Amino acid sequence: MSGLTDLKATPSDPVRIYRAPWVFPAIGPAIADGAVAVCKDRILAAGEAQEVVERFGGPGVRLWDHEDTALLPGAVNAHTHLDFSGLSFKKPERSPGFARWVLSVFEAKGALSPSNRLEAQNKGRAEAAASGTIWLGNVVNPPVDGMSGVGGVPYECRFVELLGFSTKNLEENLSALHDVDTLPWALAAHSLYGTSWEVIRQAKDWTRARGRPFSIHAAEHREEMQFVRLGAGFCRDLLFSLGRWDPAWRPSGLSPVKTLEALGVLDPRTLLVHMVHVDAEDWDIAARRGASVCFCPRSNRWIEGTLPKIEEAVRRGISCALGTDSRASNEDLNLFREAAAVLDAYHGLEPAAVLRMMTLGGARALGLDRTWGYLGPKAGTPFLAVPVTGHPASENELAEAIIRQGALGRVAWIGGEISC
Ligand SMILES: [Zn+2]
Repeated sequence: MSGLTDLKATPSDPVRIYRAPWVFPAIGPAIADGAVAVCKDRILAAGEAQEVVERFGGPGVRLWDHEDTALLPGAVNAHTHLDFSGLSFKKPERSPGFARWVLSVFEAKGALSPSNRLEAQNKGRAEAAASGTIWLGNVVNPPVDGMSGVGGVPYECRFVELLGFSTKNLEENLSALHDVDTLPWALAAHSLYGTSWEVIRQAKDWTRARGRPFSIHAAEHREEMQFVRLGAGFCRDLLFSLGRWDPAWRPSGLSPVKTLEALGVLDPRTLLVHMVHVDAEDWDIAARRGASVCFCPRSNRWIEGTLPKIEEAVRRGISCALGTDSRASNEDLNLFREAAAVLDAYHGLEPAAVLRMMTLGGARALGLDRTWGYLGPKAGTPFLAVPVTGHPASENELAEAIIRQGALGRVAWIGGEISC
């Protein structure tokens, strides 16, 4: 329920004020009786309602009152593969393990035509927008079809994924990227078992030179650990059967994180996705380098039945994000459901920290936190209104209520130019 009040006369570019019992700005503590002031497509301020109205109220200002509502930034899903959004695998009763899972994905992927991929991307975008996601970290595989279908919510940071052990691969893929200086292109090396050390290093160099994010699936499953340390096991056999095995390649003898450290690719613009099989030293390295981590716990449980130790990352002050990964290993692309699954599985994590992971943490992971992931000066619009009844007694109670409501799909976009 919301009421609209015209405070005074109407000039051009009017200020709009959205008032609500709770505002969760993500960059600061939750605000009771808060408000968000907006002009055109930018937020001017988020704060206590009385202060915001005093400061920005005036001729032409329009004021919306949202009852029983919390206002918060749109969610940032830092890791997904929209190409697979058309898949509808049945959630397995028992985790198949990586080997069986990846073979079934190859089969499904092989059956996808270019039009299936396009359809899947649009389906995934629609699902993300309807469930409150403003930005996606979308991993795409060459050939990349430009930015067709992109525009409006959800916005996309596209990670062009490199796969293979040949450095020629990198040059071929990069030559396919047009407008690299204007579009939000980023690169992802697939993983330490799907991409050679040299391709990983070159991809990182490319993104580093342009200040773009670089992403890699890291420490996701046991088969990866065995391959990186010893060069043996399922991953080696798979590469061999696909004709991609390079006999000159040598295992690092280290954990995936220590391997990435040895390659010199860890820094604040590196996004480590999954991080399930990680020891204390690995966490310390990630923290020291300032790398971001994107957790996709529902995907990990689906594939291998294991969960990452998110508390270890939080305890070290590592910047954490959440991702749904793809429909090949998850039931949906609803990031609030991912967060709700985290609350259910990790009783030591504060709900407010989890809500920050799925907003500000995601924006940091994608290098967007100057404008997205928070409510405050210069932040973009639209943002979210989520119904919250009762009287949350703390920020954590509020955050949990928001996550649970979002998981039920109870989100609405507000603050955008169109919605006003
Ligand atoms: Zn992935």
